[in-house]
Amino acid sequence: MTNASQQTTPGLLERLEQGPVICAEGYLFECERRGYLQAGAFVPEVVLENPEIVEGLHREFVHAGSDVVEAFTYYAHREKLRLIGKEELLEPMNRQALAIARDVARDTNTLLAGDLSNTNLFVPGDESTKTATRSMFEEQTAWAVDAEVDFIVAETFSHGEEALLALEVIKATGLPSVVTMAIHKTGVTSDGWTPAETCRRLQDAGADVVGLNCARGPRTMLPLLQAIRDAVSVQVAALPVPYRTYAHEPTFQSLTDPAYPNLPEGRPFPEALDPFTCNRYEIADFARDAYAIGVNYLGVCCGAGPQHIRAMAEALGRTPPASRFTTDMSKHAFFGTDARVHKEYQELAAEL
Ligand SMILES: [Zn+2]
Repeated sequence: MTNASQQTTPGLLERLEQGPVICAEGYLFECERRGYLQAGAFVPEVVLENPEIVEGLHREFVHAGSDVVEAFTYYAHREKLRLIGKEELLEPMNRQALAIARDVARDTNTLLAGDLSNTNLFVPGDESTKTATRSMFEEQTAWAVDAEVDFIVAETFSHGEEALLALEVIKATGLPSVVTMAIHKTGVTSDGWTPAETCRRLQDAGADVVGLNCARGPRTMLPLLQAIRDAVSVQVAALPVPYRTYAHEPTFQSLTDPAYPNLPEGRPFPEALDPFTCNRYEIADFARDAYAIGVNYLGVCCGAGPQHIRAMAEALGRTPPASRFTTDMSKHAFFGTDARVHKEYQELAAEL
C-alpha cells in the first residue's frame, strides 16, 4: 500500500494532526433538489443514471473547500436495493460511485473516502439481523478497498451497537475509520447510550475519528460536542445538517412549519426544509465554535450546498478556489461604497 500518491499526499490522520479536515456531504439531498433522486426511498441510482451530476457535485464541493471526496454509496446498500426491488444494481452502483469519487479525488489531490451507513435492518439482540448487517458492511467495504479509498466513513447510526459492528468491519481492512452517530430527539442513541459514552466505546474499539453527523443542525449539535471531546482522546467529527433546529425541535425530522401548515406529509422533512436553511454565516460560526473546542473533522450533512462548505473553509482560515467569488458588496449598484458607484444610486439604497 505504498505508492507515489501516498508518499506525496498526507493521509487523513496526518492531516488531522496538522489542523482541520473538511468533508462535504449531503449528496442525497442535493441530487434530490436537482431532480435526479427521489425523496422517500432515497437510493442513489443517480450514480448509474447520471454520473456526470455526481462528478460535478464532487468537483463543486472540492472547489468550495472540501478536503475529502466521499463516494456516494450512502444508502447504496443491499437493504435499500431490496426495498426498491433492484438488488442487481448493488455492486455496479457501489463500484461506479467509488470510481467517480476516485477520479475526482486523484485529480484534485483530495482524500477518497468510502462510505457505510445505517442499514435500517439492524435490531439489537436479534442475531440474524446482526449477521445480515455485518455482511452488508463487508460487501460495501470490500468494494471500497478495491477502489483504494484512503479511509472509510461509517455514519448516521441510531444504534451504537450497529456503529460498533461497522467499525469492526472497517478495522479488518487496516484503513482509518470515521464513525459518526445521528442523535435523535431523545439526546441518546437507540441503545440509550449518551453521545459521549457511545464515542468512548467506539474509541475503545479502535475508531480513529468519532462524533456526530446528520439529524441535528448546528445549534442543537454544538452543545453535545464538548462532552464528546472531553470523553475521548481520538479525533472528533461533527457534520450537522444545515438547518435551524431548536431545543424543542432539535432534529430536522422534528421541525414544524407554522407558516405552511398544509405540507403533504405534515412536516417539512425531507423536501420542504428550505425555510429552515442555515445561511453561510451560521455554518461559519459553527465551524469556528466546534474547532475551538477541538473538533477537527468538520463537514455539513443533508442539505449542504457549496456555499456552506466555502463558508466553513473560510472560517477555518482557508481560501479555496471558490473564495475568488466570496461576497464583496463594495461595487454593488446601490449598496456599494466604491467611488465608481454612482452617488445617485447610492442614495437610492435607503429606498430599497
Ligand atoms: Zn445527513
